[in-house]
Amino acid sequence: MPAAPAEPIRFVDLARQQERIRDRIDAAIARTLDHGQYIMGPEIGELERALAEFCGAKHAIAVSSGTDALALVLMAKGVKPGEAIFCPAFTFVATAEVVAWLGATVYFVDVLEDTYNMDPQSLKMAIAQARKAGDRPVGIISVDLFGLPADYDALEPIAREEGLWLLSDAAQAFGARYRGRIAGTFGDATATSFFPAKPLGCYGDGGAVFVEDDEIAEVVRSLLFHGKGTSQYDNVRIGMTGRMDSIQAGILLEKLRIFSEEIEARNLVARRYTELLSGVVETPNVPDGLTSVWAQYTVRVKGADRDAVAARLKEKGVPVAIYYPTPLHRQTAYRHHPVAGNGLPVSERVCSEVFSLPMHPYLDEATQDYIVHALKDAVKG
Ligand SMILES: *Cc1c(COP(=O)(O)O)cnc(C)c1O
Repeated sequence: MPAAPAEPIRFVDLARQQERIRDRIDAAIARTLDHGQYIMGPEIGELERALAEFCGAKHAIAVSSGTDALALVLMAKGVKPGEAIFCPAFTFVATAEVVAWLGATVYFVDVLEDTYNMDPQSLKMAIAQARKAGDRPVGIISVDLFGLPADYDALEPIAREEGLWLLSDAAQAFGARYRGRIAGTFGDATATSFFPAKPLGCYGDGGAVFVEDDEIAEVVRSLLFHGKGTSQYDNVRIGMTGRMDSIQAGILLEKLRIFSEEIEARNLVARRYTELLSGVVETPNVPDGLTSVWAQYTVRVKGADRDAVAARLKEKGVPVAIYYPTPLHRQTAYRHHPVAGNGLPVSERVCSEVFSLPMHPYLDEATQDYIVHALKDAVKG
């Protein structure tokens, strides 16, 4: 057994990153304090241009959170009661929450066993079911779970054939690649989150909408500012406070400068976990032509008690997290929403098998060795 690290192991180590760029962050915050434009300051436009350039999207719009990014797209699409929107059940609650906000019906779709992303067959079933039940299918929200893009080669044609829009919830996947494309350009629109622990995070809440369509971009920009028209006091639609703070944009600009390097470092950590853990637990699968940004490194134990393994790891000082212990269709607030087919067997099973290991760009090899050994022991019981 390698020696326990001197410092407590962190699940996500934001302190190391801060240490690395603290001077630049301090200077960025100071610039905002100096000019005093806390709302819609020059950092916002600068960040939007940098984000659009990073992923190749036509429009990037800085917003108040990942959840608001999703909601703003749905509002721009005019989502309303009587409409059906299709979401995976194995995701963070925000994906479905925004649909419920607008009074539409969430149809929960199952995920694929090997990627945890939306199962196209289950999606097709759910669309047929919605039509039969008299709910009008309008859109799909796919999720790029744990940082890995969903199966867009299957999902985009289904959306086209069925006449639905496709919104990519890339809250965990900004920077991930899908056959030459980068998250922000999948489907009709993309929402991402800059929550501090996401691969690209700010120091508070933040998010972004990415879209090709000029008209949708303009409507989102209006909605996030109380539905403004030609001026702030001309209100042409019902909107909200959905803006990102200038300070957060300034912080993100500094973090974006090192983001590609950090993605590379995350991939090195992930590759090493996968080498060292093969045969010990089920390691994540990355299909050919795709890359993950490893928001989580999620493994599965089969034939062992997941909760006992997680508890033994915690005893050894290895923080683990369970994303997610309960699929959304089993959550109290969402029980009345329909599910595809006769249930969502994969979503239900993986919820009792998965757990995520410490993952961040600054995880050193000695600490990783300790985690791997602790996990090997924990699985033996
Ligand atoms: C984090 C997350 C969100 C919400 O982002 P916030 O910025 O916390 O509002 C939405 N969807 C998924 C899949 C997420 O992981």
